[in-house]
Amino acid sequence: MHLKSLTLKGFKSFASATTLRFEPGITCVVGPNGSGKSNVLDALQWVMGEQGAKSLRGGKMEDVIFAGTAGRAPLGRAEVTLTIDNSDGALPIDYTEVSITRRMFREGATEYEINGNGCRLMDIQELLSDSGIGREMHVIVGQGQLAAILESKPEERRAFIEEAAGVLKHRRRKEKALRKLDAMQANLTRLTDLTAELR
Ligand code: ATP
Repeated sequence: MHLKSLTLKGFKSFASATTLRFEPGITCVVGPNGSGKSNVLDALQWVMGEQGAKSLRGGKMEDVIFAGTAGRAPLGRAEVTLTIDNSDGALPIDYTEVSITRRMFREGATEYEINGNGCRLMDIQELLSDSGIGREMHVIVGQGQLAAILESKPEERRAFIEEAAGVLKHRRRKEKALRKLDAMQANLTRLTDLTAELR
């Protein structure tokens, strides 16, 4: 599995549609200060489901939408598409190429797509979680983040490792199942009470 391309449209400083193509191996993004190198990484995080504005170096989620420049009016939406080569079947989906799209409108609505079909954020998180590039994005190590990982408490470090190993997905499913079980238990108790009253 490798990332094939990333298309940004209306995302941060990338007002016009811009596609970056990646070959297997190492890719370097070079450019002057403030030219948008980190915005490319933000786009990668964002399309994979990042929900924290701070992680994307903004104050609010809407800050990812092109805010305009002296010569260009602000845009109403941001869109990023990531295309992944899945010829080795690393992602649990029956396609050799998978594209993930996230779109956000200034009014706040967000849309997600897998291969052009609308889906939920959860579908994208589940698709990616086994590949090690899950929600918490520990495969992207930002400036200064390495020190944070090295200095983290053992429990926090365990969470990083669990995320990378794909365990987190099962933990989330277990928590969801336990919540359902609790609700079911409450219903059962209520039913027992009602039956007792009817006797
Ligand atoms: P450095 O080498 O200094 O780290 P960089 O190449 O990583 O810089 P970025 O931080 O990616 O640069 O880009 C910063 C630029 O993106 C700034 O000029 C900022 O004005 C612009 N920018 C960020 N968000 C938006 C937005 N929503 N709309 C328009 N421009 C934006």
